[in-house]
Amino acid sequence: MPVEPRRLLEGYDTRSPAVAVLGSHSALQILHGARAEGLSTVLIVTRDRLWFYEQFSHLVDRFVVVDRWPDLCRDDVISELRRFSAILVPHGSLVEYVGIGCVMELRLPVFGLRNLFEVEADQRRKMGLLREAGIETPKQFRVGEGFKGLAIVKLGGAKGGRGYFLARTPEEVVKGVDALARSGVIRGPENVLVQEYVVGAPLYVHFFYSPILGRLELMGADIRYESNADGIGRLTPKYLEHLGIEPSFVVVGNIPVVLRESLLPKVMRFGQGFVEATKRLLPPGIIGPFCLEGVVTEDLRFLVFEFSGRIVAGTNLYVQGSPYSQLYWGEPMSMGRRIAREIRIASEEGRLGEVVT
Ligand code: AMP
Repeated sequence: MPVEPRRLLEGYDTRSPAVAVLGSHSALQILHGARAEGLSTVLIVTRDRLWFYEQFSHLVDRFVVVDRWPDLCRDDVISELRRFSAILVPHGSLVEYVGIGCVMELRLPVFGLRNLFEVEADQRRKMGLLREAGIETPKQFRVGEGFKGLAIVKLGGAKGGRGYFLARTPEEVVKGVDALARSGVIRGPENVLVQEYVVGAPLYVHFFYSPILGRLELMGADIRYESNADGIGRLTPKYLEHLGIEPSFVVVGNIPVVLRESLLPKVMRFGQGFVEATKRLLPPGIIGPFCLEGVVTEDLRFLVFEFSGRIVAGTNLYVQGSPYSQLYWGEPMSMGRRIAREIRIASEEGRLGEVVT
């Protein structure tokens, strides 16, 4: 059972909370942002990565070194973090490295909406929430169900596109899913999501919802740089056929995007729909960063195939702020810093319980 926010903050010095983060994903940006807001910082890091993060020790007040990531769930580690009044800022590696069970039970205040992580980990509930938010999504199929065009078969969790494949027929879907199950990557067809493959321009839009200010901010956008999908365009079909190459979607990095301004009202409406849907279905609703991930078609429809209910790595592009965050704040405001600012304001106003779950 998730712990009640007020109880999570019991014994905390709520006037001087620390930002704690796992050494991965967007940790450097989050630490940098916390520093900019004058909050103290804790980095939880595995022994083998310590040497790397020590090069940024000017951003870290305390290192909590563990042998393996799931050690985060150990009572002694949690007690140590609680002694620092640490608020854990979740990112894409948290659930992947530690496991959803541990994250849900963790006796630490987490900045964000913890219940959303469970929805995010379940591909079907995830798409259901998007539809509930009035957001346009690609068609979805059952394994073996007929479809027109091309399908993409995706695995749950933040796997960075690993294991995804394209299929031209329902038989190809079944064959691919069987192979994944045989190799132990998935348990069975219930662990995949089969979607219409939408041709268009990929787009990932970063938002921040502030329960303290009661407003949604557009924080930036990116696209992913994927191997080998982004390399395939360099070869003509003759060579691709010779190599027998299939597209894959393993994320290598991120590329910045600014949107044509006429798309902004549409993406903002989707963002607002998402905030409202989480308030209705998962009270108190989203807290802080989230990302809507999809494809814009040539008739400028934005079909959203994924969301992330926490900071995404694409925000690492904007450590000095983005063209959008500048419009709200007029100062360099990264997502990491925006998180820290929310924590800082909440702490100053005695409202920390409203930003953690
Ligand atoms: P995801 O893990 O869902 O963000 O997807 C990883 C990558 O797969 C995306 O960046 C896209 O290149 C591609 N992708 C996922 N779903 C779709 C879709 N329905 N249509 C087209 N491309 C997709």
